[in-house]
Amino acid sequence: MSLNESCGVYGIYVEDGEALPYLYWGLLAQNHRGHQSHGFAALSDGIRLYRELGMIPALSGEELKTLMESLPGRLGIGNVRYTTSGSVDRESLRRNAMPVLERGSRRSIALSFNGNIVNMGELRSSLGLPEGLSDAHALNRLLLRALEEESSIQEAVKLCMDQVEGAYSTVCLIDDGTLLAFRDPLGIKPLCHGCGEGIKAFSSESVGLDINGLDYCGEVSPGELLWIEEGSLHRERVRHSGRRAFCAFEFAYFARPDSLFNDRYVYEARVQFGMNLAERFDDIASRCDIVISLPETANDAAYGFHIASGLPWEMATRRHRYVTQRAFISKAEERELILSRKVNILGRKIRGKRLAVIDDSIVRGDTTRSVVRRLRAAGAREIHLFITYPQIIGPCFYGIDMATYGELIGAWRTPEEIAEEIGADSVNYQPIDDYVKATGLSRDELCLGCVTRRYPTPMADEMAREMWERLRSSEREGGRIYEG
Ligand code: SF4
Repeated sequence: MSLNESCGVYGIYVEDGEALPYLYWGLLAQNHRGHQSHGFAALSDGIRLYRELGMIPALSGEELKTLMESLPGRLGIGNVRYTTSGSVDRESLRRNAMPVLERGSRRSIALSFNGNIVNMGELRSSLGLPEGLSDAHALNRLLLRALEEESSIQEAVKLCMDQVEGAYSTVCLIDDGTLLAFRDPLGIKPLCHGCGEGIKAFSSESVGLDINGLDYCGEVSPGELLWIEEGSLHRERVRHSGRRAFCAFEFAYFARPDSLFNDRYVYEARVQFGMNLAERFDDIASRCDIVISLPETANDAAYGFHIASGLPWEMATRRHRYVTQRAFISKAEERELILSRKVNILGRKIRGKRLAVIDDSIVRGDTTRSVVRRLRAAGAREIHLFITYPQIIGPCFYGIDMATYGELIGAWRTPEEIAEEIGADSVNYQPIDDYVKATGLSRDELCLGCVTRRYPTPMADEMAREMWERLRSSEREGGRIYEG
């Protein structure tokens, strides 16, 4: 089984100083993108690695200094990671923690990436990659082989782009002193770059630049390679796909609201999502007494909903601040417990009220069902859910933990059936066109695979079609089959 993952990446060149503190802060700002492992690589007398399980901890000044002394160098990369399927035992997590390092006869490369390789099976066999090693190892091995055979970095990266299908926003550190960053030809996962006095950086989200006081210089374009050699930045579009397909789900769920995508704060899109929902479903909104949100990704949308509907906005749900697991990306049996531990409901504020509840998405439905149950227990009179992300009807093959139809509550149910299933009075999804407009991008600039079942890469599209056909024929033969 391939290991699917989604992560935060960082890469930096510091002309006159050490890379490590910038890596640490840049990734601490992106801890939300990966809790299962973190790691850094820096170049001094060769590439040195540090990798550890868990999210990046809060380090004292003294601890950071000690870490910096063990990883000296002005060039470095780092990663925060979570695994979305496959083995999550400690040994496997350690083996696949990033950055991964590949040593060749002439060069060594450390690599950190965010995404998922769709054609992992064929790559694994062509590269002779042992089972249990993740797609980051495959990409690194492919790049190293290409670099040892090809004459230039551009040709080596192009060869990777020609052979790899999937999402991969990547930073690499080569032991000859080159730092590179590239993004798959569709730009599915985020990657931006920034600069400061004598500093050049790459980060999954712009918040990783902000925290280091660096200027945001724009996105790495789809299919583009940027590299730093002897302090100079070079860039080249090594592969043109003719379109982009940025993950639409980043806007609703993954990214921090203060990150910039396409020169727009995610926060702005989320406020608009809420306004759209209030306007689109004004008949239901007008029956409610108050609007509340599920913290924290839906807070900005709740604000927009409140503005557009005129309903009082009650902050009647609060995070238990130091509970950090994300229910969406945890094991099924743990989700309900995690959610009840992390979100507290201010029961007295909702008792007897008709609620407009704003949430970012419904994936499996178990977390939503749990919230609805707790809101009812707290005395809510009616519960109407307004969901910013359109109805998820298909799996994701690009690194988000929803790989089969069987685990998606929305794959074949109507919103009315979903409402019944989870115990709500109504479920109201933002229509796709409203959502797309609020992002500031157009349909053909986004991946909308999980809400349309049309995927931007051929193998994923084919896999989704085959899975759906299998499901449909099982149904026709008398009963729904839930995939494992
Ligand atoms: S299928 Fe959905 S979650 Fe996956 S990359 Fe596309 S938009 Fe994002």
